[in-house]
Amino acid sequence: MKRFMSQEVTMSAQLHDELIRLANEFGSDEAYARAGGGNASVKHGGVLYIKPSGTTLATLRDNDLVPLRIPVLLEALVSDEEVDGDPVMAAATAARVGDPGGRRPSVEILFHALIPDSLVLHLHPLVANALTCHEDGRALAERLLGNEAIWVDYTDPGVPLAKEIHRERQAFEARTGHPAPAITLMGNHGIIVSGNNRDEVAQRITWLSATIQAAIDETPAPVVPQRADDGASVAEAFRVAAGRDAIAWSNDDVVRSASSLSAAAVSRGPLIPDQIVYAGSFPVILEGIDDVEAAVASYEAEHGRQPITAVAPGQCVASVGDTDKAATIALGTFLDALVVGRDADRLGGSRVLNERERHFIETWEAESYRQQVSAGS
Ligand SMILES: [Zn+2]
Repeated sequence: MKRFMSQEVTMSAQLHDELIRLANEFGSDEAYARAGGGNASVKHGGVLYIKPSGTTLATLRDNDLVPLRIPVLLEALVSDEEVDGDPVMAAATAARVGDPGGRRPSVEILFHALIPDSLVLHLHPLVANALTCHEDGRALAERLLGNEAIWVDYTDPGVPLAKEIHRERQAFEARTGHPAPAITLMGNHGIIVSGNNRDEVAQRITWLSATIQAAIDETPAPVVPQRADDGASVAEAFRVAAGRDAIAWSNDDVVRSASSLSAAAVSRGPLIPDQIVYAGSFPVILEGIDDVEAAVASYEAEHGRQPITAVAPGQCVASVGDTDKAATIALGTFLDALVVGRDADRLGGSRVLNERERHFIETWEAESYRQQVSAGS
């Protein structure tokens, strides 16, 4: 018995090591995750150990993980009972093991609990999001990936999303008579990939990316126009007009080839929630440097808020913030959206979040921001 126990401890220690390796490897590659995006969990002995919000996958350590009892989380998914406040946080509080020490699990905890594999990694990858942001992603996913992945239409975060994943997994099992696959594609959001060791998860992610990239590469590569050289002055004019301290800007190949007025993220709307959270739902369009102040003023009148990101189509993208770090994350997130939209269009067409979906994230973020401020963090 004693020997059995110590084997269990060694096995779970190894699982934790493998999870941290996966999180750090994929989390430090901006093609897979940016800023605090994505999350990771390991489960054994009826307990889920998950990355808290406010940490990054790239720097995740084993002792950051928050332990939560799985049966309690699963109960929250099937229960129709009304709870006080946010239902995900209520479930997390009920499920916690010991003192969380101020760490808060993310809004995405519930879907980790319902996937049976030991290791679960959730990412917002650029290549895979060309498929999740495709206008007919479900059909394309089936054509490219067959029964290796399930598709889940865009659903509001938290309990509704976890319930929808659960429903699609059950529908797959009823349809095929096989367990649901280890890859989940979430429309306009990202992927969940699971496995029972590091190599299984890493190989599945690599296969998924390679398969989608091959489909993108079957289409003609976009033409990259020459650099027009007034990026810095456009960016500075935007910073002054927005009255902010920090600016980050780019006129790289992505900007020059994928930021025309027809680009999804430029004029049709945000592709994924991260874009809304960090870069704002819509950029202000700057057609010429003389118009910057007027363009910012009319954007504010139309949207009731200041722009975070500005686009001079085909020339320059710039983002403002209170700090260099905030401006850089906003810019990076918007450039990611340009890449995702460009590649989804290469696959046949992109889908942007609709007004209701967008509005939910805009107000939901405001709510979570207010909570942070009132908590003094
Ligand atoms: Zn996510």
